[in-house]
Amino acid sequence: MTRDTQTAPVPVLILLGPPGAGKGTQARRLHEKFGLVQLSTGDLLRAAVAAGTPAGKAAQTVMQAGGLVSDEIVLTVLSDRLADPDCAAGVVLDGFPRTTAQAQALDEMLGRSGQRVNAAISLEVDSAGMVSRVVGRFTCGDCGEGYHDSFKPEKTSGVCDNCGGQNMTRRADDNAATVMSRLDAYHEQTAPLIAWYDKRGALWRVDAMGGIDKISADIAAVAAAHTTDRSHHAEAAL
Ligand SMILES: [Zn+2]
Repeated sequence: MTRDTQTAPVPVLILLGPPGAGKGTQARRLHEKFGLVQLSTGDLLRAAVAAGTPAGKAAQTVMQAGGLVSDEIVLTVLSDRLADPDCAAGVVLDGFPRTTAQAQALDEMLGRSGQRVNAAISLEVDSAGMVSRVVGRFTCGDCGEGYHDSFKPEKTSGVCDNCGGQNMTRRADDNAATVMSRLDAYHEQTAPLIAWYDKRGALWRVDAMGGIDKISADIAAVAAAHTTDRSHHAEAAL
């Protein structure tokens, strides 16, 4: 798990946002624009298990016993992953850290190799807007095309523009009460993390209720400010 060679610091970004805020889309755009690699805890652990690294084997043992993988193992897996060449441009952490204890452990782990969390980007939503965004959603059950009563209605009621199917489906949990409780749970869980990164001057709030391209541009501005020394790193590595 330890590395002898001192490598250039990898920019580490964290994307915070409730379900429905568009984190997945924005992470994909950060990858396309800046080459940032999205790292979710589940993907990290699966890859480490598949690669058979010492931390991966430790994780496998815990998971096979039905236990929760410790923060220490997750951090070791993450530390190993950051040293992979494809992460040189930077990474976007998704789903980790979830607690301030994990944030502190992450800071310590990164600090040992002269790295840090460069930016924690909080996708800010307003509850009423989220409710109307989620509540009008429906999907074509035949081809999976997504629609929305207000923002993207089908041309002919009940008929899919894409495949002509007449099998529109709505998720039972896309109702106002469920959305509100998901948002409350998110805010309760994330508020300490937001405060943690705010105190370190690493927090960036992005209004996530506007158009998707505007949101992307705002996030890209933050990412650009924290990954600009990438070419410098590349030169130093030569
Ligand atoms: Zn369809």
